Amino acid sequence: MTDVRIGPALVVPVDAPPFTGYVEVTGGAISHLGEAPTAAAAAETVGATGRIVVPGFVNTHCHTSQQLGRGLGDDVDLLTWLHERIWPYELALTEADAELSALVCAIEQIRNGTTLIADPGGRHVDGMARGIAAAGIRALLGRSSMDSGDGRPKGDRESTAEVLAAQDDLAARWHGNGRLRFSYTLRTIFNCSDDLITATVERARALGSVVQMHVAEIPEENAHTVATRGATTVRHLARLGALGPDLLAVHAVWLDDDEIELLASSGCPVSHNAASNYKILGSPRIADMLDAGVLVGLGTDGAPSNNRMSMIDEMWLAAIAQKGLRRDPTVLPAAAVLRMATLDGARALGMAGLVGSLALGKRADLVLLDPFTANFATAADPVSALVTALKSENVESVMCDGEWLMRDRRLTRIDEGAVLAEAAARAAAVRRRAGMT
Ligand SMILES: [Zn+2]
Repeated sequence: MTDVRIGPALVVPVDAPPFTGYVEVTGGAISHLGEAPTAAAAAETVGATGRIVVPGFVNTHCHTSQQLGRGLGDDVDLLTWLHERIWPYELALTEADAELSALVCAIEQIRNGTTLIADPGGRHVDGMARGIAAAGIRALLGRSSMDSGDGRPKGDRESTAEVLAAQDDLAARWHGNGRLRFSYTLRTIFNCSDDLITATVERARALGSVVQMHVAEIPEENAHTVATRGATTVRHLARLGALGPDLLAVHAVWLDDDEIELLASSGCPVSHNAASNYKILGSPRIADMLDAGVLVGLGTDGAPSNNRMSMIDEMWLAAIAQKGLRRDPTVLPAAAVLRMATLDGARALGMAGLVGSLALGKRADLVLLDPFTANFATAADPVSALVTALKSENVESVMCDGEWLMRDRRLTRIDEGAVLAEAAARAAAVRRRAGMT
C-alpha cells in the first residue's frame, strides 16, 4: 500500500537526471521514483500533469524570531542594525512573541517551498520550537550564544558556563523531537571567547550536530579578531580546530584566497545569504569559493536583514549577482544554484542522508510547482527556469515528512488570516516596548 502517489509530473530529483513520471510516498519516506507508478494501491492519488516536483528547499540561515521585526533594519550599517535595532527588538520579545514570530516565519517558508530551516537562534528557543513545530516544517534550532565582548544588551550577559548549560538543556529537550533538531551556535567572534568556541564545537560533535556561527561579516570583524587574537576570524577558527564540516560559516563575506582555501581544505560549509549580504555586509566571493571546492548553501537570514524570506528569490539573486561581480555569465549555472538551495544546503547542515533530494528512502520533503503562470509557462528549459523564472506563486503544494503542509495553496494546519492579523498587532506592540515607534 502506497500512502501518496504523485504524477505523472516532471520530477527533478536534483541528485539524478529529471524525468517525467511518479513519486510515491509511504510512511513519510519516498518509496518509489520512476517513469511508471508501482502496482500498489494508493491511499491518495495526486494527478499532476504538467506540474514539477522538486525537493523542499533548505534555508541554511533563517532567524525565525526576527519575523516580527521586518523593516526594522532598513538602510543602516551592521553595528547600528545590531546594537540599536535588533538587540532592543530581541530584548522586548516575550516567549509568546517568539513563538508567533516563528510560526509566521514558517508560514512564509512553506509558501516559498522551504521545508527545512537552520535557525541560529534568539533568546526564547522553546517558543521558537513550538511555533515551528506548529507549522510542521523541519528545523535545526539554535540559541543565540554570547559570553563576552562589547555591546551585549544588559539583559543578556551570561558566563561561558551559563551559555553552554542553557544549550545543553535545549539539546536534551529538542534534538530529535519530531522534525526538530538542535545545533549549538556562536553569534559572532565579537561576543564569543575562545573557551566558548572550543567547548561549543566539542559539544556539537558529541551530539552529532553542527555549529552555526556568523563568520567574517564585515572588515571590522577581521580587524577586531586580528587585534584581540592575532589573526583573522577564519584563520583563528582554524587554529582553534573549530573549522570543519560541522561548523556552518554563515555569511563569510570578507575572505582572502588563503581563507577560502582553509574553508575548502577543512570541509567547512558556507551559508550564503545573498540579499542580506548585499544589503548590509558586502559581496562574498561565492564563485571563487565554488571554484575552490567550498560547500555552499543558501539562506534568507532574518526579516530585518533581507525583508524577503524566500529561497526562490535567494536562488535568483545569488546567481545574477555573482555573474555580475565576476563579469562572467557562466558562473553559478542554474543546476548548481538549485543544488545549493536543496542538496548542498542539506549537506551543509549535516542532514543530506535524510533530505535535500528526491531519493529512495529519504524523508518525503517535496514541493509541487504549478508552471502555468505568465512568468514560467513559456520557459524553454523548465529546470533552468526553477532558478531564473520561478516565483512564490508557482508553489502549489508542499509536503514535509510525508505530510501535506500546503495543498492547492491552502495551508492545512494553520488559520493563516488569523495568525497574520495577530502577528501584525504583536509586531507593533514589540516595536512600542522596544522604543522604536
Ligand atoms: Zn544571522
